[in-house]
Amino acid sequence: MEIVEHRQIMILGGGPAGFTAALYAGRADLKPLLVTGMTLYGQASQTHCIENYPGFPEGVGGSDLGQRMNEQSKRFGAEIVYDTVQCVNLQQRPFEVCLSSGSYTADSLIISMGADARKLGVPGEREFTGRGVSYCATCDGAFNKEKEIHMVGGGDSAIEEALFLTRFARSITIIHRRDQLRAGAILESRARNNPKIHFLWDTVVREIIGGDTVSHLLIENLKTGQQETIATDGVFISIGHNPNTAVLEGQVKLTEFGTIDVDKHMETSVKGVFAAGEIADPYFRQVVTSAGMGAAAAISATKYLFSL
Ligand SMILES: Cc1cc2nc3c(=O)[nH]c(=O)nc-3n(C[C@H](O)[C@H](O)[C@H](O)COP(=O)(O)OP(=O)(O)OC[C@H]3O[C@@H](n4cnc5c(N)ncnc54)[C@H](O)[C@@H]3O)c2cc1C
Repeated sequence: MEIVEHRQIMILGGGPAGFTAALYAGRADLKPLLVTGMTLYGQASQTHCIENYPGFPEGVGGSDLGQRMNEQSKRFGAEIVYDTVQCVNLQQRPFEVCLSSGSYTADSLIISMGADARKLGVPGEREFTGRGVSYCATCDGAFNKEKEIHMVGGGDSAIEEALFLTRFARSITIIHRRDQLRAGAILESRARNNPKIHFLWDTVVREIIGGDTVSHLLIENLKTGQQETIATDGVFISIGHNPNTAVLEGQVKLTEFGTIDVDKHMETSVKGVFAAGEIADPYFRQVVTSAGMGAAAAISATKYLFSL
């Protein structure tokens, strides 16, 4: 594809990490080009109220926060392109990035294409996301005081999140498709010894049901085939995350979690290529931590570019 333009720095992904990187790179006078991808403002745009991003004591809507980040980065010279990265070539210098609308070259890249929580893919899941269906206990736990909730999953994250939720909820029932957990022994024993945590083994959710918010789950026992509708105040789904690394295949080192491997400067295995936010973070997965990684990546990229 024909090269449209050369840039000192490009930022791939328009979530909190990408827009924060664009703000910092803009203030360093690098005139960054940010490519948003299909989900403008990232995962946070799916939630109507973020209560744990500092500076907003009343909370802030996810899209509202994204819009503010967008405006702030543009004020310092960032250019925003509403397109999707189709391919990158990190083997050549300058690096090449192809979008649907044309190709660019860049001396440095910040990759901030995020991750997607794995979905159950059952009826009602999408409809009730943010209205009783959640993929993040840290984000939404506090909305569940004295509630009777369900957690789908059986790995370390699901159990850690269930234990965290015991601070708020009256009871948490873990729904797991197998008859034993995949989580580590210590976590499992903590969960089994916690009087608020209960288990439904060999069970899957077939449908999420409700009115304004979730009220019931249709579940099925995989051993007996028996289906049952049970009441719930909400369901947390913790069955893993897929970092959006498909367009980078084979070009940059990944971790055992499938996230991009970065050092403390957010630099990847390719010099001059940095990564920030959930695409490089299997642990924290928050707006504030992603934004922080975006800032760090842009500071490192700025130093890198000034050293050329
Ligand atoms: C429903 C929900 C509620 C949440 N609530 C909270 C909360 O209350 N508090 C909190 O701190 N966190 C919350 N989170 C988590 C938070 O949203 C994420 O941690 C954060 O958005 C991660 O930011 P990011 O920039 O790394 O990636 P993302 O937000 O995932 O953004 C990735 C960006 O990359 C773009 N992209 C992907 N592929 C491509 C491509 N090929 N080309 C170009 N661009 C691409 C996407 O379009 C998107 O703009 C919530 C998450 C969800 C799903």
